[in-house]
Amino acid sequence: MNLILMGLPGAGKGTQADKIVDKYGIPHISTGDMFRAAIKNGTELGVKAKAYMDEGALVPDEVTVGIVKERLSMDDCKEGFLLDGFPRTVAQASALNSMLETLERQLDHVIYIEVPKEDLFKRLTGRWICPECGTAYHEIFNPPKVEGKCDKDGSDLIQREDDKPETVGKRLEVNLEQTQPLVDFYSEKGYLRNINGQQDIHKVFEDVDALLKGSRQ
Ligand SMILES: [Zn+2]
Repeated sequence: MNLILMGLPGAGKGTQADKIVDKYGIPHISTGDMFRAAIKNGTELGVKAKAYMDEGALVPDEVTVGIVKERLSMDDCKEGFLLDGFPRTVAQASALNSMLETLERQLDHVIYIEVPKEDLFKRLTGRWICPECGTAYHEIFNPPKVEGKCDKDGSDLIQREDDKPETVGKRLEVNLEQTQPLVDFYSEKGYLRNINGQQDIHKVFEDVDALLKGSRQ
């Protein structure tokens, strides 16, 4: 089962990835982990990637794609894989297609956890944390008993830079711009599977599971 998992920040992609891996036993391949492993193992491509990263430069596609290919060729990917965070661009998606052809494999599904932007904005900007004990709250989903105060020690809750409305708005905008061409690309190729991410996380997984069960060999 060869899968790609997509979703904007806050869509619950991480949770669904964990559930898919648990149930179907395929490795979760995130770009970050893959880079860290290649660098740690000192592979030729890992060394190249590190040189770019040390300079604060973007790692070129040929290096990234090479690292993905090395990873997908490993034994644990024989029964399938769940790619997360790659591809990021249409160029990378095309490169992935050719790579899979070389490996004599093909994609089964591109799972897109869909949540409207306004909803993601609410999810992401409602987060507050306690600077004293680190407890996390959410205005809507997990509010403190007294507004703005920690339940445990009464400290004033703070909002991290990442969770502030301006930052969240910008991040969503950038991600959406990046994601839309990929969604279009996979939709045209017939791989895209939209999953309604506005439901309870268990229900979201039921939908994912139903899709995967139908394609299990
Ligand atoms: Zn606290």
